[in-house]
Amino acid sequence: MSTILTQLVEELNAGTLKVVDLTQPLGPETPVIGLPPIFASSPGVTMEVISRYDEKGPGWYWNTISMGEHTGTHFDAPVHWITGKDFPNNTCDTIPAHRFVGPACVIDVTADVEADPDFLLTKAGILAWEAEHGRIPAGAWVLLQTGWSKRRGAEAFLNVADDGPHSPGFHQEASEFLARERDVVGVGVETVGTDAGQAGGFDPPFPNHTIMHGADKFGLASLCNLDQLPPTGAVVIAAPLKIVDGSGSPLRVLAIAPA
Ligand code: MN
Repeated sequence: MSTILTQLVEELNAGTLKVVDLTQPLGPETPVIGLPPIFASSPGVTMEVISRYDEKGPGWYWNTISMGEHTGTHFDAPVHWITGKDFPNNTCDTIPAHRFVGPACVIDVTADVEADPDFLLTKAGILAWEAEHGRIPAGAWVLLQTGWSKRRGAEAFLNVADDGPHSPGFHQEASEFLARERDVVGVGVETVGTDAGQAGGFDPPFPNHTIMHGADKFGLASLCNLDQLPPTGAVVIAAPLKIVDGSGSPLRVLAIAPA
C-alpha cells in the first residue's frame, strides 16, 4: 500500500488538503470565441431533453448535448493546431493519461490586467516569478491568473471592440520559453482561449497555440478559481473526454491544494 496515497486520502478527509474546482459552468449561456466571418464559427451549447420523468421516459431524466469541442472550460490537444498535427498520440483519445496530471505553477498578473486588458506575460515576467517561487518544473501546468473569470456575461468576458477582442495572454517569447526551456505540459488561462484577444493580428498569428501545440503541449481555457491556489504546491488533474480523433473537449479541471 502506497503511504503517499493513504496520506492523500487522510489529508483530504481531514481538510488539510482541498479539491479546488477550476471549471466554469457549462450551458447555453457559456460564451464562445468569435472568429472573423471568413472562418467557420464554433456553435455554443444546446441541450435537448430526451425524457424527464414523462411519457418519453417515466422514471428517468437525460439530455442530448451539442457543442463545439472548444466550448467553456476546455482542453486543447496538440492536433488542434496545424503545428501539432503530426505528433504521435496528439488527440484526445491517444494522449497518455499520465500527461493530464501535473504540478501547478500559478502566475498572478491580475493587477497588470486590471491596468491593461491586453496585457501579455513576457519571459522577463516568468523569470521574475521564478526568482520568487522557484524554477518551473518540467511537466508543470502553468496557469495564468488574470482575474478574467470574474467577468460576468458574454459581453464582458469576450470584451470585443471594433478592432476585435481585448483580453490578456502570453507574449510569443513567453510561450517559447515555457515550451522549450521549461518543458511544461501546457498552459491554462481564465480567458476564452489560450491566446490573447488581439493575437489573431500577431506575427505569427495566435503564437501561443502555434508554439505550444507545435511543441506537443496542451492548453486549458476558461479556467476559474485560480485565486484559490498557491503559486506552487497544487496538483492539477485535467483529463479531456476520450473523443476519438478529438482536437479538444470540455472537461472538469480539478486541483488538489493545501487548504
Ligand atoms: Mn481551444
